[in-house]
Amino acid sequence: MRCAYHPDYYVPLPPSHPFPMAKYPLLFERLRTAGLVRNADRIEPTEAALDDLRLVHADTYLGQLAAGTLDAAAVRKIGVPWSAALWRRSRLAVQGTLEAARAALEDGLAANLAGGTHHAFPGHGEGFCVLNDVAVAIRVLQRDSRLRRALVIDLDVHQGNGTAAIFADDPDVFTFSMHGERNYPTRKMRSTLDVGLADGLGDDDYLALLQQHLAAIFTDFTPDVVFYLAGVDPVHGDRYGRLRLTDEGLRLRERRVLEACRSRDRPTVITIAGGYAPTPERTAELHSIVFEEAVALHRRAADHCNHPVRGATRP
Ligand SMILES: [Zn+2]
Repeated sequence: MRCAYHPDYYVPLPPSHPFPMAKYPLLFERLRTAGLVRNADRIEPTEAALDDLRLVHADTYLGQLAAGTLDAAAVRKIGVPWSAALWRRSRLAVQGTLEAARAALEDGLAANLAGGTHHAFPGHGEGFCVLNDVAVAIRVLQRDSRLRRALVIDLDVHQGNGTAAIFADDPDVFTFSMHGERNYPTRKMRSTLDVGLADGLGDDDYLALLQQHLAAIFTDFTPDVVFYLAGVDPVHGDRYGRLRLTDEGLRLRERRVLEACRSRDRPTVITIAGGYAPTPERTAELHSIVFEEAVALHRRAADHCNHPVRGATRP
């Protein structure tokens, strides 16, 4: 499976900062050591082009990001201090998702070892999100006639408010967000389908709801590509999560999403989105589960089919 990753996804933050920036290199190392990402499968993105970012983001906002002239309130809303490295990192991560989407359209499945920054709106960032990578990737591929319809499956525990707002009037983009109803953001935007979850929800109820809604979505909507935001913050013990998924529940979640896409032959792009376990090592461990499941699913599909299947040559 091709995966986008750049060492500069990591940007140093003050030691007391709550965002676990170290999870990006830790996840990459973990997947590389486990043989889940081989050197030949790695895509190293460049910085996303401004013309591409403009398909979603306001010129004024992009100009302020480039020049470092966001006011204090705007920086506070993002929650990560501005730096030239952060601006570069944000553009690298957008391009990573775009490159992963292009790879998924060829191979059936690909990933970005970052991305899923779903709280970014056209004219401002918030909740640790600067640019909306999935929205930019969809708009670029639509512009380039590579796809018409996209489905966003957002299982980060926080509602994908930026993504919902960006595609609110676009019937070709189905935004599905399953999130903590009482969790951030306080003011939710309207996705095509929002499923708000009660605090403390565990594996069985979570997985039953997921299964039911995935089946209904795929009955009504046939996307050319699926973007999966595989946030691991619904797992028990997450600092910002409030839900109680176990590791095994998370594994089943990843398996069901990937199988739902695979069984319908829908190209799928994995982005990692949020995760705030007690340590960055633990967060990286949880993020690695979707990659373990993705590679296992491809192997099973290749084993069970006598004919070449999309992606089978790139397990
Ligand atoms: Zn989140």
